Amino acid sequence: MKIVRFSHQGRERLGALDGDNIRELDGPLDALRGAAGAQPVALSQARILAPVIPGKIVAVGVNYRDHAKEMGRELPAEPMLFIKPSTAVIGSGDAIVYPPQTHRLDYEGELAIVIARAAKNVPEKDARRYVLGFTCMNDVTARDLQRLDVQFTRAKGFDTFAPLGPVIETELDPSDLQIETRLNGEVRQRSRTSNLIFGCDYLVSFISHVMTLLPGDVISTGTPSGVGPMQVGDTVEVEIERIGCLRNTVAAAR
Ligand code: MG
Repeated sequence: MKIVRFSHQGRERLGALDGDNIRELDGPLDALRGAAGAQPVALSQARILAPVIPGKIVAVGVNYRDHAKEMGRELPAEPMLFIKPSTAVIGSGDAIVYPPQTHRLDYEGELAIVIARAAKNVPEKDARRYVLGFTCMNDVTARDLQRLDVQFTRAKGFDTFAPLGPVIETELDPSDLQIETRLNGEVRQRSRTSNLIFGCDYLVSFISHVMTLLPGDVISTGTPSGVGPMQVGDTVEVEIERIGCLRNTVAAAR
């Protein structure tokens, strides 16, 4: 199932994509079902939103071997975690705002995990039971501020720095999917999730031993090599096999 969050006639709801229609869904994330009596909504009549508004986004730094090399970093012995604020989330089609405080704004295409139910101290073998599904994420980064600051909060925390979507695919083995980032149609990143240093089940388990993961929380699993800058007016796309394409443009701050 492909889960979307959408706005139609002034209401925001969850739904399941069904061809050119959306079927409204009801209930908690770990027990979604068709909303009683709801009529299908034509996709063309709806505005697609970020598929979830997470309480927190736990992101993983340096989790592809090729990206570790291009950043001049050693392979990590454990996942390197940081948090992006929920206020950074935007949906596919929304604008990434280029802040005046940076002169180097990078895309980072990533596979993101969406959590379905509260997860604390989860063994790796049980991790999938806590996962709703998978979506695309752009871990937008002010690279100059990341280098300047000791940690990542400012460089990765601006509003609009967490494009997410367009859908959450619930029936998916995430272990070997093609991931591609395009800038104005040109391929800049292309890898497979089989190149992840720490895989999805391991990350859910590892993070759940640090902090409780709650329904709707997002884990962004890290970016492959080929990170690079965006300019105002650019279109950036993160496409993951069997999930879809997250597309955003870069706009000047007003
Ligand atoms: Mg990243």
